[in-house]
Amino acid sequence: MNRIQDAKRILLIEDSPTQARYTGLLLEEAGYRVSVATTGGAGVEQAESGSPDLIMLDVVLPDLDGFSVCRRLRQKLVHYVPIIMLTEQRTDIEDKLDGLNVGADDYLNKPYDEREILARVASLLRIKQVIDELHARLANEHQSYEALKRIALVDHLTGLYNRHYFNEVLHREFSVAARYGNPLACVMTDIDHFRDFNSRYGHPVGDWVLHHVAGLVRIMLRQGDIIARYGGEEFMMVLPMTTVGDAADLAERLRDAVATAIWQHPEAGPLNITLSFGVAALPAPGIDSVDKLLACVDQALYCAKHNGRNRVEVFTEQLA
Ligand code: GH3
Ligand code: MG
Ligand code: MG
Ligand code: MG
Repeated sequence: MNRIQDAKRILLIEDSPTQARYTGLLLEEAGYRVSVATTGGAGVEQAESGSPDLIMLDVVLPDLDGFSVCRRLRQKLVHYVPIIMLTEQRTDIEDKLDGLNVGADDYLNKPYDEREILARVASLLRIKQVIDELHARLANEHQSYEALKRIALVDHLTGLYNRHYFNEVLHREFSVAARYGNPLACVMTDIDHFRDFNSRYGHPVGDWVLHHVAGLVRIMLRQGDIIARYGGEEFMMVLPMTTVGDAADLAERLRDAVATAIWQHPEAGPLNITLSFGVAALPAPGIDSVDKLLACVDQALYCAKHNGRNRVEVFTEQLA
């Protein structure tokens, strides 16, 4: 005999007290936990709130007929619950088909054979168990897929996309922009004198800065823009449908936001952080591949460093 807490729960939707007592007792003796609803409306409510493992449903009820109750149950219940329909009258094949059409799993005439009903209940409960296990496994697999995807695409220190994902997006956006002649901007930024910063304050404070610079920059981008951690303290942005002028304006706003922010580390105290930026964009003569675009943006950044840091430089043909 099942222990009561493991017992499967059966909801009996039955208006006749005699019939409910009889069927209820039969099921309880077989080790099931039984609850009874005496109207169709109450049955649907109890099915939703009590999450039974199986429902036995009388066809003739005082409020709704069993067919509409069955249809409602199928609409409302998120998880699969087997439903056995029961009727008093000798039922013709049309009624049985009606019951199966509205989503019943089985159909029994009263008075029914006790062994038969117990066998059918047990068989439907086994099917439910298999379906529940499959659902659980699918949900788990979906979760681990999402987790793996996150690990594969996201840099854990900053929460930004990683270089691998950035390259994928850049290739995709580049071919779209090249095909339709749309603008596409690429912005690269690098923290100024970060090696010295690490030597002075230590690596953990450096990590704190990386994390917060990433957060500050990310919230200033538009939806559809992608930012990734490209190298140690280098970030790369791809801005679809953005001209070189608009990208330079954005880079200037980012530069200003970081340079004027008050950086107050809990232990290290106030810090000075600045970024240098390189900008390059399509359409531009000579930028006919992703590699060229990357080389141009890198060159513009090099120029910003060379010209004194904490500044934005845009790739022009003169730089080439
Ligand atoms: P520049 O202004 O020319 O960029 O000078 P820089 O010192 O920043 O030069 P560079 O970009 O070559 O140096 C990168 C430094 O960034 C080296 C390393 O100390 C630091 N760095 C790279 N990755 C990390 C990281 O994950 N955490 C921390 N704390 N520091 C990092
Ligand atoms: Mg660097
Ligand atoms: Mg450098
Ligand atoms: Mg640097």
